[in-house]
This record gives sequence, structure tokens and C-alpha cells, in this order.
Amino acid sequence: DPRIARISSAIRVIPDFPKPGIMFHDITTLLLDTKAFKDTIDLFVERYRDKNISVVAGVEARGFIFGPPIALAIGAKFVPMRKPNKLPGEVISEEYSLEYGTDKMEMHVGAVEAGERALVIDDLIATGGTLCAAVKLLERVGVNVVECACVIELLGLKVNVLLEANLLEPFGASR
Ligand code: IMP
Repeated sequence: DPRIARISSAIRVIPDFPKPGIMFHDITTLLLDTKAFKDTIDLFVERYRDKNISVVAGVEARGFIFGPPIALAIGAKFVPMRKPNKLPGEVISEEYSLEYGTDKMEMHVGAVEAGERALVIDDLIATGGTLCAAVKLLERVGVNVVECACVIELLGLKVNVLLEANLLEPFGASR
């Protein structure tokens, strides 16, 4: 798709942020390019509009930027998946591993119902740990996760392993 090249070149890579050795993929420059930002949303909407999806679950923080316009366009509700102690109501939470240590993701109880079909969205997948936590949280309450979507994929060994384990789907396949 010719739109992908423009989207890709609108994303800035900043070396050594937030610490030395990390190449940080910065989507804020994509948001400044009105055509590339719209194309990004359109690509997801074209892919997900006829899939009977009632929930778009966005992972904090950049899933909160891409998720809501997609949710509005496909007629789904938006559910934030947040870092610990941010949501004011009763939550369920899922712990997951980071490179060093662990983190937690939380979702409001009652935001989704068993049997709903969800799309999970974030800006970037690296190891896939973050998206797996979101999938587990939704599946624990009986939601069917149709697919995970991200703007950027940093393909590494661990992601391939997760794809083989059928925990995540590559862009281009759905279950
Ligand atoms: P994973 O859990 O290893 O797949 O890491 C993905 C999470 O880390 C996502 O929530 C991303 O927003 C964040 N992340 C990791 N690297 C980058 C980056 O280069 N740019 C923006 N976000 C990143």
C-alpha cells in the first residue's frame, strides 16, 4: 500500500532515548503530518470495520492516541488499559515481565462483557509482553480478542515465538 511509505517516513527515530542504546521510535512526528496520521487511522479502519468488533482496547499511553479515532469510525467503544493506580473505579489487573522487573496493567471492571469482540491497539510491539498482558486481561473476562494492531513492529526473535504460539497475529492475518 503506497500509504505505508509516507507513514513510515513520518515516524522519527531518536537514538539513546530514554537510555543509552535504545532507538526510540517517536510517533509524535506522525501526528504532525495530517495526511500520514489520517492514512494510519484509515488503514486500521479499512481492516477492522467489517469484523463485528465492539471494543477497541488501547494500551497506555500511545494506544490512547490511535485507539479512539478507530473506535469511533468502526462504531466500537474505547476501553483504556492503564498503568497501575490510574483508574478510579474497581479494576482487574494483570502483571507482566519487563526486561528488568515487572509491571502491571489495569482495566475497569464492567467496561467489557463476556462474548464481546475486541481489537487491542498500541503504537509499537517489541517483545510483545505488553500486548500479551492486554490480551490476557480481556480473555480473563471472556472477551474474544480478534487481533492486536500496532503502527510499528520491531521484529525480534521473541515476537516470532509469540506468533508461532498463536498469542499474537501478524498484520495480515486474523482469527
Ligand atoms: P513490548 O512489551 O516489549 O512489546 O514493548 C512495547 C511497549 O513499549 C509499548 O507500549 C511501546 O509503547 C513501548 N515502547 C518500546 N519501545 C518503544 C519505542 O521505541 N517507541 C515507543 N514506544 C516504545
